[in-house]
Amino acid sequence: MYNVMSPKAEEFISHEEILESLAYAEKNKNNRELIDGILAKARERKGLSHREAAVLLDCELEDKNQEIYALAEQIKKDFYGNRIVMFAPLYLSNYCINGCEYCPYHLKNKHIARKKLTQEEIVKEVTALQDMGHKRLALEAGEDPVNNPIEYILESIKTIYGIKHKNGAIRRVNVNIAATTVENYRKLKEAGIGTYILFQETYNKESYEKLHPTGPKHDYAYHTEAMDRAMDGGIDDVGLGVLYGLNNYRYDFTGILMHAEHLEAYKGVGPHTISVPRLRRADDIDPDVFDNGITDETFEKIVACIRIAVPYTGMIVSTRESQSCREKVLHLGISQISGASRTSVGGYAEPEPEEENSAQFDVSDNRTLDEVVQWLMKMGYVPSFCTACYREGRTGDRFMSLLKSGQIVNCCHPNALMTLKEYLEDYAAEETREIGDKLIAKEMDVITNPKVKERVKEYLANIHNGERDFRF
Ligand code: SF4
Ligand code: SF4
Repeated sequence: MYNVMSPKAEEFISHEEILESLAYAEKNKNNRELIDGILAKARERKGLSHREAAVLLDCELEDKNQEIYALAEQIKKDFYGNRIVMFAPLYLSNYCINGCEYCPYHLKNKHIARKKLTQEEIVKEVTALQDMGHKRLALEAGEDPVNNPIEYILESIKTIYGIKHKNGAIRRVNVNIAATTVENYRKLKEAGIGTYILFQETYNKESYEKLHPTGPKHDYAYHTEAMDRAMDGGIDDVGLGVLYGLNNYRYDFTGILMHAEHLEAYKGVGPHTISVPRLRRADDIDPDVFDNGITDETFEKIVACIRIAVPYTGMIVSTRESQSCREKVLHLGISQISGASRTSVGGYAEPEPEEENSAQFDVSDNRTLDEVVQWLMKMGYVPSFCTACYREGRTGDRFMSLLKSGQIVNCCHPNALMTLKEYLEDYAAEETREIGDKLIAKEMDVITNPKVKERVKEYLANIHNGERDFRF
């Protein structure tokens, strides 16, 4: 039985409720009156239920779809302005004991190079990432209690935070590791992680079990209830995601919104981020096995509908997506993107030799961070390397209440400009610096509070003179 407050996966992600919602959406996809009502509710910027959002996702009325896209764009602007937060993934180890059928790190893949970074290698990789200008990382590791125990992850986080090279520093480490115990989540919290990210892959239990035939990840309930345990362990920023292409996208779209509703109702804080990865080509993965691929148009619609349904959540798109696709979804709701990513274990300090391929998936966007930064600025976005919130203790419900009240813009915009200025001073190519300095001068007008504006001016001058790490 569906129960948003239940601690049980099969009750807060009820299969029957999803099927009924999908049938309701199918029946009402051209119901103009109902869709107008849903859009009116969405304009209040307080979100939509999974059922309402499913109707919008299915809607076939061209004029209403244009309204959906326009509203998504407006909500994105209201909550996130024109800022885009930058990050990079860092793969620590691709040892994994699970049997995920769509991932080349699955246990039975014998021809992929297995690697695990030593602490010395991590120093080299992170130094290379700092030298590009990155301040925010997402750590990735397969599930392997022998090769990648929690102690290894904790030690790696400590190493990363300890690396200070020139003006570089990693100021926020987000972690994407397998579902674990409350005790281990508590240890991650104590190690100072930002967001704990865990993709559900698919919310359909039957498909989930087939796609994960072996290993601890086979346990649907343990995996699906992981975010509740993470919050019990004190982590209040959690990141959700499904891998579009594995299962029916309408099902997983509805499922992820139900998960967001559950976290908000049961734990008091909705997801800090929602990622929208799509299945990509990879070693030892037969693309014909997965016939649920989605078109770019559907992908854009999913992004827009999530933005409307969960207005406060950060939305992430990775370099799995091409430049042109990323360009489209940035308008519709994406607030964070990765840049210059390597999806292999190592590869930032030195490119990985061809015969040692350890990559999880092919990257579509191969540009350097500087190229990505310049591209964003030319489109009028402000690339942000900000990590201020969690360092100021603005996490969980404190963060959400600020964000929902619209107040976060008074921190985000100045912080974005100041961290962009750091990037321009320390890492940017000359042309990027010129474009960036002009952009910063223009974007100063967005700050309306005269006191804040004065302080930002002062801080920007200090950054130019070599000082670092100012924040609101
Ligand atoms: Fe392992 Fe994660 Fe890949 Fe599954 S998706 S095989 S758990 S690394
Ligand atoms: Fe994110 Fe907070 Fe920085 Fe805004 S101020 S960009 S919400 S870390």
